[in-house]
Amino acid sequence: MNILVSACLLGVNCRYDGKSKLIDKLKVLGKKHNLIPICPEIYGGLTTPRAPSEKIKDKVISKSGEDVTEHFKRGAKETLKLARFYDCKLAILKERSPSCGYGKIYDGTFTGNIVDGNGVTAELLAKSGIKVIGESEIDKLCECSSSDKTFND
Ligand code: SF4
Repeated sequence: MNILVSACLLGVNCRYDGKSKLIDKLKVLGKKHNLIPICPEIYGGLTTPRAPSEKIKDKVISKSGEDVTEHFKRGAKETLKLARFYDCKLAILKERSPSCGYGKIYDGTFTGNIVDGNGVTAELLAKSGIKVIGESEIDKLCECSSSDKTFND
């Protein structure tokens, strides 16, 4: 199966701070599935490194006060194009990111507080019928994968 994955989880230094968040376990998953790296913030025209941003209601604002919502929306649409091109039913996305976070995101105060909500890309993918999970759920997927079951729940 083709699975979209946040590129920073695969070791690409595309985060706002110019670093990655490599998850080694993805190598195991990559032996069974095609992992397709995506970085919506780069696709949306932002540079690396860049000021960190957080979502506040329907807007995304950088720590320096710039409204970067349009970049985030553009990146989400470009990511959805790839999801459709590769017929992805599943995406493994970086938790809490204003683009990739699903279920829980930072609250917009840049204080590390977490609230219920979705990043811009995660929300668009989920609304388009793609199952979105975070990196903390990879173990479940690896277990399914090693016993050759499909991840459907
Ligand atoms: Fe990682 Fe997503 Fe942020 Fe890109 S936009 S650095 S893939 S969390």
